[in-house]
Amino acid sequence: PGILYIVPTPIGNLGDISERACAVLAEVQVIAAEDTRHSGKLLSHLGIKNDLLALHEHNERDRSEALIKRLQAGESIALISDAGTPLISDPGYVLVGQCRRAGIKVVALPGACAITTALSASGLATDRFCFEGFLPAKPQQRRKRLQELLTETRTLVFYESPHRIVHTLEALHEVFGEQRGCVLGRELTKQFETYLTGTVAEVLQQVTADSNQQRGEMVLMLAGAEPAAHTELPTEALHCLKLLSQELP
Ligand code: SAM
Repeated sequence: PGILYIVPTPIGNLGDISERACAVLAEVQVIAAEDTRHSGKLLSHLGIKNDLLALHEHNERDRSEALIKRLQAGESIALISDAGTPLISDPGYVLVGQCRRAGIKVVALPGACAITTALSASGLATDRFCFEGFLPAKPQQRRKRLQELLTETRTLVFYESPHRIVHTLEALHEVFGEQRGCVLGRELTKQFETYLTGTVAEVLQQVTADSNQQRGEMVLMLAGAEPAAHTELPTEALHCLKLLSQELP
């Protein structure tokens, strides 16, 4: 059988693709891409000519079976997404799962990923962290998820969209209080790469004061909870305490 290669592509700066990634993209029989038009541009920039087929969240289940057949017939396939590492808030989970169950070799190349890029420059603790992906879009569900994370002691990492950043920072302010450390990494590896750092209140202030800070791609990070302070109390109790303390003089 052939090999399924998981190939990271740049998250902005085109120089961030590896030599090995280029070699794999050139030598496989076909490249499965989230958006073939978008990836076609990257391949032509790299001077790589190869066949592309679409594998996105809406057709992944159907397409995976056909791809497994091709792999079993001896073809090798590269999986790429629009940016960064496939499967990290991107398609590929179904295909890789099916390959594993069918005994097909899966080889992942290391490369660009917004999580590690943002975290390594954040100044927040990196020894233990928790990637939460995108928060739910609906305010109530978003708040519920944040409340569940209130006592998490690991650094929290979220992907966030520019339309929701202000609402999310407001929700963080409400749930975590204004003192929690916060870093917003924006447009990483690109021309307007920015890190806003401070407390949740300070980052919220910077983002609301300048609408440019509400643009582009962003990774939001939050310091973990202080371990000792919260060990005995359940999240609900802490939340009640917080509400009560706001009412006290
Ligand atoms: N697979 C990608 C990766 O490895 O990071 C992530 C794909 S996810 C659909 C897209 C989200 O990743 C964006 O909404 C943003 O939160 C984050 N992201 C991607 N590129 C970024 C960049 N250059 N700067 C900041 N965040 C980025």
